[in-house]
Amino acid sequence: MESFVYQNLPARVVFGTGALAQLPPEMDALDARRALVLCTPGQRALAERVADLLGARAAGIFDRAVMHVPIETAREAREAARRLGADCAVAIGGGSTTGLGKAIALDSGLPIVAIPTTYAGSEMTPIYGLTEAGLKKTGKDPRVLPRTVIYDPELSWRLPVALSVTSGINAIAHAAEGLYAPDRNPITDLMAEEGIAALARALPRIRAQAQDAQARSDALYGAWLCGTVLGAVGMGLHHKLCHTLGGSFNLPHAETHTTVLPHALAYNAAAAPQAMARIARALGGTHAAQAVYDLAKEQGAPVALKDIGMRAQDLDKACEIAMGNQYPNPRPLERSAIRSLLQDAFEGIRPIRPA
Ligand code: NAD
Repeated sequence: MESFVYQNLPARVVFGTGALAQLPPEMDALDARRALVLCTPGQRALAERVADLLGARAAGIFDRAVMHVPIETAREAREAARRLGADCAVAIGGGSTTGLGKAIALDSGLPIVAIPTTYAGSEMTPIYGLTEAGLKKTGKDPRVLPRTVIYDPELSWRLPVALSVTSGINAIAHAAEGLYAPDRNPITDLMAEEGIAALARALPRIRAQAQDAQARSDALYGAWLCGTVLGAVGMGLHHKLCHTLGGSFNLPHAETHTTVLPHALAYNAAAAPQAMARIARALGGTHAAQAVYDLAKEQGAPVALKDIGMRAQDLDKACEIAMGNQYPNPRPLERSAIRSLLQDAFEGIRPIRPA
């Protein structure tokens, strides 16, 4: 056995259909008495359900969470928390809502209870993002890690099928890059492979039947594992590219991950053969990059950057930004190969199997 360090992050997880009902006792366990409930405008009804469940312990609802946490929104939410005397934030929704909770926690130290309704995985990480003057900055701080996470698969039944697929592949990306991270270890490897397999099993069943309770449960379990990997180890080329494309060209988060992942894996394939073998095995395929591509295509997800808002004339600039600072990746960053990767992702071609 190789030597390794595994740092367990101190989050409590409550998992199961109907687990939302556990929110009041979970608030007791945190000694929290006044919760500010956070959501996106589209999930207001769900936030109201949470506020009803909390009764007098709901301090109010802030329903303006949006993608990439603009600093102005973060300031408004922080001010609402102060004005209402909140002693905790309950973030119900996807990564955007969890991200807003993190922005409050970063400023005030308020504990977060996260109730995820997508597969993004932010709830399991100490990573936060804030966007100021069009520039998204990310950082790590233990204060932003949600203290309690309630996974209730029932809350994801209404996640549109198309977003379920791309959000699921977004989760797979965390685990896939985790399998070749320099600080990976046998425990994160186990979680990564199991997380990918659970999602790969679940996504076709969700596509066939959006309210398949077992499939929704498997997908959320997979997302939890993949999110844990994201929180535990460093990410490489794929996440860097997606951060660039999302932040600089305003591409949608989960779709960007879905279109780029097969090509990032193809780029790294020869430099990380063991990771590729585990990814392929979890997906029931023989070649990791092709298996991810096939999963996306067969489930009707976009596979080309040109179909999700990328412009051909921005590819050179995207390559420049991605090359801008060095970060750990199994294969060194080579400008012309990364430019070809971006071209392939732009066109949406199936990655070629290496000889
Ligand atoms: P999102 O939170 O923006 O949700 C996408 C849309 O789906 C929203 O309109 C939302 O209202 C809706 N939605 C969510 N759950 C739903 C449900 N069950 N039913 C119906 N509609 C639902 O998208 P996301 O992909 O979950 O998160 C993306 C954001 O999270 C990005 O900003 C990304 O950078 C961030 N993120 C951060 C981390 C981290 O560790 N910090 C990890 C992953 C993602």
